[in-house]
Amino acid sequence: MNWYIGQEIVAIESHKQGVFKKGDTFIIKGLKNSICTCKDVSIDIGKTSINHLTECQNCGVNWKNNGTWWFSEKRFAPLDYDISELTDILEKPIEHGVDKLRELANNYFETL
Ligand SMILES: [Zn+2]
Repeated sequence: MNWYIGQEIVAIESHKQGVFKKGDTFIIKGLKNSICTCKDVSIDIGKTSINHLTECQNCGVNWKNNGTWWFSEKRFAPLDYDISELTDILEKPIEHGVDKLRELANNYFETL
């Protein structure tokens, strides 16, 4: 995902400690790579927390926050992200593939 500061994002899952709920929207205030080796992008949504532990959702490595509460990019999607559009894009090549096979099959039988 290409994130940028100032981008509008929506939470796609609720935070376990209730910091935000699924469907809440935020503006990205900061971005950085996670401290662990997953190379996850951490997003600053304007929440502050001193010495709160941030835990990587992948590997479980955790580290202390230093004022900014960072959240994994996996919890968010861009606000303009339209799932139905994505579904359309994903389904089209499959349909096309089936049509193409049918066309090839028809041509094949016609030549017999
Ligand atoms: Zn990790």
